[in-house]
Amino acid sequence: MAGGRDRWLEGLKVVLSLKSDADRLRWSLYSSDSVDTELQEAIAVAEHAMGAVLETLELPDDGDSDTTRAYIALRKVEASYDVRQLRDLFEYDGVTSAESAAELLIELCALRNECARRCWYNSYPAMALTAQCIPSTSGYAHAVLRYLGEPRRIDAKEYLSIECFDKYWAGVEARLNSVAVCGVVRDRDYVDFIAAMLGSLKLECLSSSIDIVVKDQPYASGICFDLSTDVGIRRAGILLRPTGIRSFFVAAHELGHAVLCLQHGGGLTNIPSWFDESNAYLVEDNQPDVRAALRELFDDNAVSSWLAIHSELREIEYCRIYASILLEDAIWAMADRRDISVREKVELISEMCREIYSTYLNTCYRDAREWAFDSFRSIDPVYVHSYGIGRNAAAILRSCRCRPGQLGPYDVSREALDAILAKTTR
Ligand SMILES: [Zn+2]
Repeated sequence: MAGGRDRWLEGLKVVLSLKSDADRLRWSLYSSDSVDTELQEAIAVAEHAMGAVLETLELPDDGDSDTTRAYIALRKVEASYDVRQLRDLFEYDGVTSAESAAELLIELCALRNECARRCWYNSYPAMALTAQCIPSTSGYAHAVLRYLGEPRRIDAKEYLSIECFDKYWAGVEARLNSVAVCGVVRDRDYVDFIAAMLGSLKLECLSSSIDIVVKDQPYASGICFDLSTDVGIRRAGILLRPTGIRSFFVAAHELGHAVLCLQHGGGLTNIPSWFDESNAYLVEDNQPDVRAALRELFDDNAVSSWLAIHSELREIEYCRIYASILLEDAIWAMADRRDISVREKVELISEMCREIYSTYLNTCYRDAREWAFDSFRSIDPVYVHSYGIGRNAAAILRSCRCRPGQLGPYDVSREALDAILAKTTR
């Protein structure tokens, strides 16, 4: 099977190279000021070429626990026409009603499961977790949750009339912006903040390798791109949507991704996402450095209030992560059931969702179908585990006095994951 092995390795190289081309082009598109149809076409060409290679690329028939094999299988599934069509409905807000979104999401899960089985994995989550170096044994999600610990119940009485989680969050976020600040926040302030963070972290040497673009865009509150080239020049790009004070914390988070990308070399196959996230949390939740950097730009009192509100936002985010892992487990298991209708599935999951959120957020979650719109679920299924583990690993890293930018943290982070594994096998 030497020929087969060679073909696999060659195909792998081509796929990774096309993926990085597409990412660099996407950065150019996202950070450009106008709708650039040439760039859009170039991205489509790179993605089409990658899809074509993936379609015919045969996975080695051994090593279904191999991370790279699982990663390529994942790309194969995501590149398939049917999955793309359905997923794009969420990604580009093509879905209008919450009800149809929920039904489509269940359909998407079932389809992803079916495609994963064609790649010889038991389910899509099993494949995606393997790609993240996370074991996919049944009951694993619950073991992770036991390890992570239940979120603190948040008293949300003042938001009782808010009908969905996103709006609840927006309400708390608005408080961040309402704390008095002298003058408005300018786009330039985010760039200065990142420079100050690098100074505080003693990583000024990286500043010339990071491109920062602040602009109103629909893609995300913040994204970090790996812009490194094949010839070994490492570069990272941070795209930020300026939405007020919270964007400083988003900037810190994305900086964590950028630091890792510049020091380890990016690429999902090199770095599992939970480790990538742990580095991002390590920077974002690093209050002394964030405080020092913000104080270079703003008044002390305002900065202290922002840090306190940000901590509250982190708790809410943790509720979302925790609830999402719980819910995700149920959604994926439900997707394959043939004994009940899609409508019944939606009702069962909605009920579960209502119960979970009212447990932790003390709020009435009136339109429970909003779960279908959560990007954790529609675009990055299973990725939420990375946030849960990343957040926890970051806390362990901090307690060991690890600083962002050290090469050592991977081992500590790995230990955090191993601690979870030990609990799951017990
Ligand atoms: Zn992140």
